[in-house]
Amino acid sequence: MPRQLSDFLLKGGRLIDPASGRDGLFDVRVRDGVVDAIGADLPPDGPAVIDVKDQIVTPGLIDVHLHLMKGLGAFGVDPDVFGVGSGVTTVVDAGSAGHSLLNVFRNYVTDNAKTRVLNYINLSTLGGVTGPGYSILADPRLIDEDKIEKAVEANRDIIVGIKIMATGGALGAQGLKPLERARKLGDSLKLPLLVHIGESWTKDTAPVHVGDVLKYLRAGDIVTHMFTVHPGGLLDGNGKLWPQVRDAKESGVLMDVGHGLHNLNFDIARRVLDQGLQPDGVSTDGHRGNRAGPVYDLPTTMAKLMALGFSLNQVIEMATVNAARLLGRMNELGTLRIGLPAEISVLRIEDREWNAVDSQKGMIPAKQALVPVYAIRQGAIFEPLIIERP
Ligand SMILES: [Zn+2]
Repeated sequence: MPRQLSDFLLKGGRLIDPASGRDGLFDVRVRDGVVDAIGADLPPDGPAVIDVKDQIVTPGLIDVHLHLMKGLGAFGVDPDVFGVGSGVTTVVDAGSAGHSLLNVFRNYVTDNAKTRVLNYINLSTLGGVTGPGYSILADPRLIDEDKIEKAVEANRDIIVGIKIMATGGALGAQGLKPLERARKLGDSLKLPLLVHIGESWTKDTAPVHVGDVLKYLRAGDIVTHMFTVHPGGLLDGNGKLWPQVRDAKESGVLMDVGHGLHNLNFDIARRVLDQGLQPDGVSTDGHRGNRAGPVYDLPTTMAKLMALGFSLNQVIEMATVNAARLLGRMNELGTLRIGLPAEISVLRIEDREWNAVDSQKGMIPAKQALVPVYAIRQGAIFEPLIIERP
């Protein structure tokens, strides 16, 4: 059970808030669940004191790609598992619900969670109903623009974009047609597209070339699974970035990690990073099937990026302000600002050697682990669920 505490002082921690440029010993005072003061050595002044000495305090971490419809197929997981149960205050479902399930999602997932739960609506009416590997876009009737528009307009507060599976398996005989329709819909609804690349589930169909997919994307759209080893990824047969990938990045298309069961490969990541392409967002692609490994939680995924060479500040930047930008929620999320609801993560850095493992069981040595300590949201302080982390 979380501790209910709407007035308190977080004392002695190292605050890292890339959006505000703060990195140092700053206390954070919360009143009525709202950030009331940020400063060095604030006096206790009444409210309860939470000692976070030697710990890292950040704006509430944001995990931008998960599967959160608990009970739906083999994947759906309770949002509070990867959310406040993992030191994370905002989680985003990537396409579990098409338009017909959106009210169910809203009423039973978003409204029941302790974590803030946002949503990418699936372009296909089927969403995650069939489970992966089905041709959910192959019948043109499975995209219904009018119904998607109605669902979006009724739920703008939680919808952050449109999810499309850009795989040969999902698109089937429709080829690139669904991408064309997604583009039009995204433009008319003013929502970004979140595009899954990589043929991780379908082995029998010809993969879609990422260059063909990127033709339909614009600034603010997101490609997820940037480090996938599966056909349809960012690299050509010689391990070079397809030229269209650089062009897309330069035009403002965003890149997300989307770890998952299949799509974080350290060899691919190294090649992509060596060629100068950086992730904009870090996400777990968390679901019921990868919680116990290889994914575990967002802090562990962030620590894997640290093992690949990113700094602590960089991975925190990805999971806070960059994620908020990617979601179009810069005004409310991703930074600690006086007057905003106090959504805060507290983490601990452990200096120890461990092996980071990718989706293909590839291993790289890591020197620091990142462990959740608290997630703070809506006047409640959540301790993480106990799992065995690497
Ligand atoms: Zn996913």
